[in-house]
Amino acid sequence: MSEAGPSIFTRIVAREIPADIVFESDSMIAFRDIAPKAPVHLLVVPKTDEFANVVELAAGDPALLAEVVATAHRLAQEFSNGEFRLIFNTGPSSGQTVFHVHAHVLSGALEEGSLGRQ
Ligand code: 5GP
Repeated sequence: MSEAGPSIFTRIVAREIPADIVFESDSMIAFRDIAPKAPVHLLVVPKTDEFANVVELAAGDPALLAEVVATAHRLAQEFSNGEFRLIFNTGPSSGQTVFHVHAHVLSGALEEGSLGRQ
């Protein structure tokens, strides 16, 4: 972990910061992004703070990464039509601001060709 102290997401897991939590299991938590970029914008977050980004997660615990993807799919089915965009910002110049691995699940009337627009 590259942040000093617990990440924002670890603090959400600990209920130190409120969030609109839509799913929780022993290993995972999912909640609505505070600044949504789509009609449905959820963050799927492994509870462990061992991995800063998806590259570290894929190398360190591929089964947990598969669980992130399966959770994203289930939530897209529950909150939208099951179709979704899955984004892992990786590194500051990609837009990553929280260095605790998380997937953005975007769904609902996304514009074709809108990926990567600034
Ligand atoms: P990143 O930019 O690291 O890929 O994504 C971090 C995301 O976390 C951003 O989309 C931001 O809006 C969201 N975020 C930051 N702080 C909070 C918070 O306290 N609560 C919630 N629900 N989302 C947050």
